[in-house]
Amino acid sequence: MPAKAESADRAEESAQLIATLRENGVNDPAVLNALEKTPRHLFVPDQWQERSWEDRALPIACGQTISQPLIVGLMTQALTLEPRSRVLEIGTGSGYQTAILSPLSRLVYTVERYRTLLGEAEKRFKTLGFTNIITKFGDGGEGWSSQAPFDRVLVTAAMENEPKALLAQLKPNGVLVAPIGRGAVQTLKRYVGDNKGGFHREDLMDVRFVPLLPGVARNNE
Ligand code: SAH
Repeated sequence: MPAKAESADRAEESAQLIATLRENGVNDPAVLNALEKTPRHLFVPDQWQERSWEDRALPIACGQTISQPLIVGLMTQALTLEPRSRVLEIGTGSGYQTAILSPLSRLVYTVERYRTLLGEAEKRFKTLGFTNIITKFGDGGEGWSSQAPFDRVLVTAAMENEPKALLAQLKPNGVLVAPIGRGAVQTLKRYVGDNKGGFHREDLMDVRFVPLLPGVARNNE
């Protein structure tokens, strides 16, 4: 397809996706703008290109998934980012969620346990000109203590229990959003620091994430 026709198609697909997200509760203009401007097809493997602008999760390498745009929008909105926020993301995956956080934050720290996925995401960040994303190959369950505390923490893999290690790396009035649960369906939870060392906890919705696994992956097992 000629490049011009292709970009017209993309614009239409992206407009359609944004309409769907609006209808389903994404209403923060800055979040919608980030979703509209981020070329999701560049985060999706070749064999799924045709479906890259649909509102659905898709397979990526290493048996992982790129999240559904609606969930990315709702989770980003739930974080209540501020332009000065330093954000920690656990589970870089394709880098799509990271790319949405980037224009809405001061700095984004992202951790991934698959070297291959992290390498591919880093290439995308470079191609797309992101300059405020700092990546790490490691076990995100432990957070990133040398860079703590963070204003915001977003976990994009399911945690079995309350994320104590991550909450300990949150500022006193910070916000953490994470899927918590053991089964195929988890509860998206939000923790808001109460400035006294405690947290207000809220259940936001049901979600389906791949599990947060311990340690780093060896040889892309
Ligand atoms: N935010 C991603 C979603 C990726 S799926 C995107 O938009 O594409 C969840 C990711 O979390 C997977 O890539 C998985 O490898 C990663 N993950 C799971 N357990 C982890 C851990 N302990 N530390 C870091 N990353 C982890």
